[in-house]
Amino acid sequence: MKKIFLLFSLFLFLACNISIEKDSEKNESTEAEKIQDSAGNFGIVIHGGAGTILKENMSDSLEQAYKAKLEEAIRTGHEILANGGTAIEAVQRTINVMENSPLFNAGKGAVFTNDGKNELDASIMEGETLNAGAVSGVTTVKNPINLAWEVMENSEHVMLSGKGAEQFAKERNLEIVDPKYFYTENRFKSLERLKARDSEKTELDHDSKTAFVDPFIKDSKFGTVGCAALDKNGNLAAGTSTGGMTNKKWGRIGDAPIIGAGTYANNKTAAISATGWGEFFIRGVVAYDISAMMEYKGMSLAEAAKEVIQNKNPELGGNGGIIAIDRNGNVSMEFNTAGMYRAKMNKDRDLEIGIYSE
Ligand code: ASP
Repeated sequence: MKKIFLLFSLFLFLACNISIEKDSEKNESTEAEKIQDSAGNFGIVIHGGAGTILKENMSDSLEQAYKAKLEEAIRTGHEILANGGTAIEAVQRTINVMENSPLFNAGKGAVFTNDGKNELDASIMEGETLNAGAVSGVTTVKNPINLAWEVMENSEHVMLSGKGAEQFAKERNLEIVDPKYFYTENRFKSLERLKARDSEKTELDHDSKTAFVDPFIKDSKFGTVGCAALDKNGNLAAGTSTGGMTNKKWGRIGDAPIIGAGTYANNKTAAISATGWGEFFIRGVVAYDISAMMEYKGMSLAEAAKEVIQNKNPELGGNGGIIAIDRNGNVSMEFNTAGMYRAKMNKDRDLEIGIYSE
């Protein structure tokens, strides 16, 4: 009897071991499959600004023009990534397309300051090295994102501003333009409208917190551009370029050129570019907050982006959105405004373009 029991136990032991081995082989192969699946994965996502973008205020032809430009921009970056180019190059070249279009509040088409000038901000960041470059308040550099890249690559600094940044742009042989290049009639009219409304405005209660929730400020931007990309080598990058907010004064600088607020990239988590009311994105350290929640709380990109954009940002009084891509190619296009110009494209060339919050 004892012998039979021992033999039976031995049989059970062997049977279990074989099945455990089989299971672990299965697990290993699914892990290997996963790694193989994500190797060579890539993707890109862009925004062209968030705000009160309503279908009833948009003509069909303008809507088509926005969609066409978003498509041209994202295809530019996608092509670079598909050919094995780097995420940082894709981000830069994609943003160039939007900077060169008068449709967006970046480069040509930038909004006007209170004294009728265009002062441009931009930043760019690499997720592999955490290297970054940024510029603020430039008035003569055709493509501020290229200057941000030069700061990152060819200076020992992270952020340059105003005249010094322009001097550096000349030394790096970047394209310099007359400030008049940035003039567009629409943006100039927006400034005039805003100034007229400003002077009609009834007194605001400057002691109260609500004084800051000024609807005129809230709608004085739109059209900042940004891009986030994952390349075939698994590297992430993000960049943002803007004219800031219409009617800005005193050398005001928003979140776009501030690493961690408007732009952030980290290969451990995601690449993120923001758009919206910059003061609140600076105070909420929005782009870094999303990355930090992923890194320290183990949240997914979708969960972290939702928490920051749908809860934390509006609680503070801000509005706007982000676009982001994580190291596995998952994309988020989260916003709390009526609309955000946006597009995403994956490895399989699936393209999605959106404007409103359908
Ligand atoms: N965030 C930009 C700024 O505050 C504006 C925008 O994204 O529309 O300068």
